[in-house]
Amino acid sequence: MRYISTRGGVSPIEFQDAVLMGLADDGGLIVPESIPDASGELERWRRLPYDELAYEVLRLYASDMPEADLRELVVRTYSRDAFDPAPAPTVSVGSIHVLELWHGPTLAFKDIALQLLGNLFEYILHRRGGRLNILGATSGDTGSAAIAGCRGRRGIDIFIMHPRGRVSPIQQRQMTTVLDDNVHNIAVEGSFDDCQRIMKQIAGDLDFKRRHSLGAVNSVNWARVLAQIVYYFRAAFDAQAATGAERVRVTVPTGNFGDVLAGWYALKMGAPISLLILATNVNDILARFYNTGVYALGSVVQTTSPSMDIQVASNFERYLYYKVGCDGARLRTMMSEFARTGSLSIEPGPDGVIDADFLAGTATEEQVFATIRKYHQEHGYLLDPHTAVGVTVAENVGRAAEPAPLGLHAGEPAASSRARQTRAPYDPPIVCLATAHPAKFPDAIKQATGEDLARHPAIDALAGLPTRCEVLPNDTQAVRQFIERTV
Ligand SMILES: *Cc1c(COP(=O)(O)O)cnc(C)c1O
Repeated sequence: MRYISTRGGVSPIEFQDAVLMGLADDGGLIVPESIPDASGELERWRRLPYDELAYEVLRLYASDMPEADLRELVVRTYSRDAFDPAPAPTVSVGSIHVLELWHGPTLAFKDIALQLLGNLFEYILHRRGGRLNILGATSGDTGSAAIAGCRGRRGIDIFIMHPRGRVSPIQQRQMTTVLDDNVHNIAVEGSFDDCQRIMKQIAGDLDFKRRHSLGAVNSVNWARVLAQIVYYFRAAFDAQAATGAERVRVTVPTGNFGDVLAGWYALKMGAPISLLILATNVNDILARFYNTGVYALGSVVQTTSPSMDIQVASNFERYLYYKVGCDGARLRTMMSEFARTGSLSIEPGPDGVIDADFLAGTATEEQVFATIRKYHQEHGYLLDPHTAVGVTVAENVGRAAEPAPLGLHAGEPAASSRARQTRAPYDPPIVCLATAHPAKFPDAIKQATGEDLARHPAIDALAGLPTRCEVLPNDTQAVRQFIERTV
């Protein structure tokens, strides 16, 4: 498998180069030249344990890696040491199937991709020689998962900036209690936007980037999307086994579009998925797109699901690339228009639908709290606020299939008629992705239930541990000098 850029400016490269490149050199995103058809493999794949299934999926895309090396790397990544008891178990809760993706070291689904990415970086650097300096900016979850994926890895130093005092105390401890020599936390005296601006300025200085071989771990890295494809197959197989259904629907709490994009690749590869239900909080740029065809910037509103408080979804360009018939030149025009006007649009198909593979809805904060409360009272199961966004939208979709009034984002007729159109003769079971453990968001749980219920031993164990963190002014030059001093 070779890789190209969505904007057509990169001649085909191999998988390992795609992993190191991160963002494509022409400013686009890296995509595979084709999407492999795995529909003939399903009967064999459904019987495999997670690590073997991951190997089978990855080998279709990582064809420049010797098979024995890839297998060893994947089996090590998804071992019990990192994911206990398994990377992606599905549990039945009431009428939904919850895919628990938070069994990794930082209790969020990003571990599944970033544990793999850390091992891939280490493997590639070991074979090619050289070092890599990762620079990232985080408002919370990505930073801790990236640090957990890179800590102690040979050949890698990782620098993660967070806005000083503006990430949650738990997220801060998850990052700054990691004392490995190759981990460098930077608390910037500014906002998350300041951190991102500093990162872009440093990464945009091509001379500095080359001199210090700067790499990226953000969700535009192809390996992150790839790692996530695996659990869509796993979850569909598990929900099929539990219900006997031919296909399943999957609900995805969405921010940067990385996770649901992996689901779309799985669907296109032949996974038994009939529908992707895209769930946003009130930052609903993506839900609006699927209901109207218009992708237009709003302003970011803070919610209790902060990892989804996003307006520009960095992975959406990959999806648009396929939507415009893999026409890099056309996409380039669209993206520069979006950069200029903050808006772009797609014409619906003849059936009036933007994409029959998707249904999209939004959950308000009140609905999220009500869902957390309900699942706790009725099922004794605690949902984190991100997962609760997904479950809320999933329940509304279920209701939308009945003749009764519709619950998809109150008063959005476009979405409701879509829900009826896509309804199968039977209602396929719904898998809801659980993207974080509730103990990462204890305040929201307390607000929803009135009780302090969300605990996890790994979080409790962080209290009182020593920390290390460099406080720097809100100044690109200061961060640049810190990196030079450190490496
Ligand atoms: C990152 C994150 C999301 C959003 O995932 P995307 O790939 O950005 O759509 C949802 N929930 C949690 C807990 C996250 O950390």
